[in-house]
Amino acid sequence: MELTFQPGDTVKTLWFKTSLHPGDNYRVAAVFDSLILPRLQNEDGKHGIHIHDSKAGRVPFDAAMVSPVLTVWRLFNLEVATMDNLTGYNNKVQAYIYDFDGGNNLASRATRLYVDNAFAQDTINSFYTHLRGLEEHFPNAIDNPPSADLNSSPPANGRFENGFFTLGMTGSIEGEIRNNGINFLNVKALQQSGPVSLPLLKIDLMLIPVPGDTILGLVQEIQKTANGTFTFTVALINRTLQGVTTSAIFTAAAGQPMPIVSINPAANTITTAGLSLTALLRDDDRDASHNILPYNLSQDYAGFISVLDTFKSVYLQPVILPVNKNIHYFPTISTPNFVNRVWRQLEYKDIEAGINSTGVWYAATCFVWQSGKWDRDQDPDSENTSNLGLTLQNDSASNTIMLAGGDISVLPFETFFEVMGGLTNPNAQAAISFIHEIGHQFGLDHIPERELMHEDLRYNNRGFIPLHKSIIRSRKRSPGK
Ligand SMILES: [Zn+2]
Repeated sequence: MELTFQPGDTVKTLWFKTSLHPGDNYRVAAVFDSLILPRLQNEDGKHGIHIHDSKAGRVPFDAAMVSPVLTVWRLFNLEVATMDNLTGYNNKVQAYIYDFDGGNNLASRATRLYVDNAFAQDTINSFYTHLRGLEEHFPNAIDNPPSADLNSSPPANGRFENGFFTLGMTGSIEGEIRNNGINFLNVKALQQSGPVSLPLLKIDLMLIPVPGDTILGLVQEIQKTANGTFTFTVALINRTLQGVTTSAIFTAAAGQPMPIVSINPAANTITTAGLSLTALLRDDDRDASHNILPYNLSQDYAGFISVLDTFKSVYLQPVILPVNKNIHYFPTISTPNFVNRVWRQLEYKDIEAGINSTGVWYAATCFVWQSGKWDRDQDPDSENTSNLGLTLQNDSASNTIMLAGGDISVLPFETFFEVMGGLTNPNAQAAISFIHEIGHQFGLDHIPERELMHEDLRYNNRGFIPLHKSIIRSRKRSPGK
């Protein structure tokens, strides 16, 4: 470019275009003689940061006539969202108890509960109801089999190992699940001994002798009889069973109506032809007291923000986008659905899509409870130790060419807790998984070198290999684009 100075001119401003590749370096040299201009050159390998005159060698007036090195940086806008904590029905599974075993046929001492969705009409998660059916929504491939449970070969402890259950839809007292099979739960006996009023897990009952008349009360015991009927000992509120007939509608613990076979007012018992009690099941996922999620980035005890400095080695300046709301809780569902559902809830993705064209890149990460095939919460020790993060890529990853990559990663915190005991275990730091997954968003594949894209977090030294730096530098669009 040419500048013309008139008498009295002291400062001239001009604009020139650079490439937008991260890490491209520029120096601007000025000369008074246009004939010298073609002689000036720079080859990185030979000349380093200096301008060379092909006849005179290194240009001696660097300081006065050559600008400092200008490096192209990109702003890397990163939306970091977090899933809500477990509340309400989150991650609970509704089922019906239709039979029990153990404890002299008394529900108060039962050690096995048979559960089924035989009565299911309108469940909170209708397609999760059958215990092994919990996994039916996963592709049933070799690398993605249903969760192993006590019916499996070899048997495993099941989806609800060390879990809990409550009775009814609003029960707050938790019974303890030891493990489960395809249609049963092994539980710690509700009441091991003594004539204590039952059940420990309060069973509300509702009896409707005729339409418009509703009797409420509690079930104190359920005895299974030899002919397959169940006898409920009940305590009614301000009422007796006198005059109630077998045509009354009888439900307990928000279960389905149970056909009445006989009623004994003197003994306060109702005998039915079947059993149906609603149970809400959940595994051992942490609750609010463990403070896993939502993750507070302003406190950032796991060091997610500081580890982002790794991207400065590829001339990316990360900027965390402040997120104003948490992602709604999602249960374990199939991987693409999971990521897509999280993606739909992100706050800034639509705004950022327009920014990509002007040299600001965008990526998103969400801290979640669990996701996908490997974190279905097989509980507690069998979860995969190498896949502690997930990025859904638009095409397969590569270490040789630049690919679109992906635009969202999820980090399952529960998996970190179950496998590694926390987020900051030196053998598998969640912070490294965090930047590793973002590396996948840039289309990078795993490498054998013990650097950032090594698959095993134990051997991941959080640095980019030169090839990966080149791939990122040759990128013209935001990750996923
Ligand atoms: Zn990976």
